[in-house]
Amino acid sequence: MSHRGKEFLSIIQKAESDLRTLLNIPEEYAVLFLQGGATTQFAAIPLNITTPNDAVDYIITGSWSDKAYKEATKYCKPNVIWSGKSEKYTKIPGFDSLKTNQNTHAKYLHICANETIHGVEFKDYPTPINEKTVLVADMSSNFCSKPVDVSKFGIIYAGAQKNVGPSGVTIVIIKKDLIGNAQESTPVMLDYKIHAENNSLYNTPPCYGIYMCGLVFEDLLEQGGLVEVEKKNKKKAEILYDAIDSSNGFYRCPVEKSVRSLMNVPFTLAKPELEGEFVNIAAGEKMVQLKGHRSVGGMRASIYNAMPFAGVEKLVAFMKDFQAKHA
Ligand code: PMP
Repeated sequence: MSHRGKEFLSIIQKAESDLRTLLNIPEEYAVLFLQGGATTQFAAIPLNITTPNDAVDYIITGSWSDKAYKEATKYCKPNVIWSGKSEKYTKIPGFDSLKTNQNTHAKYLHICANETIHGVEFKDYPTPINEKTVLVADMSSNFCSKPVDVSKFGIIYAGAQKNVGPSGVTIVIIKKDLIGNAQESTPVMLDYKIHAENNSLYNTPPCYGIYMCGLVFEDLLEQGGLVEVEKKNKKKAEILYDAIDSSNGFYRCPVEKSVRSLMNVPFTLAKPELEGEFVNIAAGEKMVQLKGHRSVGGMRASIYNAMPFAGVEKLVAFMKDFQAKHA
């Protein structure tokens, strides 16, 4: 199937149109289906909307926003206006306190809406002090997990692989008036203008991945859209956090309650020597990938859209049983 043939065109157009319905994306935003993962966007964003001397602001709430910031240092002049590093990335800053640190000339303010490794999630979004500064969000790990007011953002970007499809597709939702000012050295594959003008078909796109994303968008719409999807995600997260909080300290989640992620639930055991056993027995019961990221240790349950309620119930039952045997 040629990517320029009418069969694939109808697939990519339907995928875009369903995503527009799901997220209620305004007309003045372009939707791009790209490649290279969210990591490529760490460079594409500064390359497209800054010049090398432009100031931009980054809020560092975990490893992913830190990586985004470090990449941006190559292409413009980013400032870290808040970092949660000293508190082991367990918090999101209060927005009032941010105001004094924001750079009035910043081209954009970058956030990671959900830190996949640390499990902290923005529940609301900061407004830049200068209305010309646009808000840019990495939504890789909570994309399409809940409704989002797209109009608050200049750019939203996400790798597809957590909630909406296979790896290999990266989605960029960008306000059209930000397109067309890329730095001269910008590779053609990173230039939003090229992709927007060619409806994401400048070169061969990840056709099969886009087809799969399209099927997921149809499914999310059939479930009742993102309002319903969010209700399910909240229910799943709630029973897991409840199990942790009601374990009398046997399990602990380090993240401040008000910003706990609905998608990634990190937790530790009061007796760390039991963690290996926990992970191994869980794997024996077909609950795999519960080991926390190597940078933080402990455990992490990722409960993306595709994880059914029954899956989380099974984990919670396992946790209670494990506690009863080891408390
Ligand atoms: N940002 C976040 C929040 C992520 O979770 C990830 C991947 N886990 C990335 C960026 C990097 O994405 P990719 O592997 O698609 O480049």
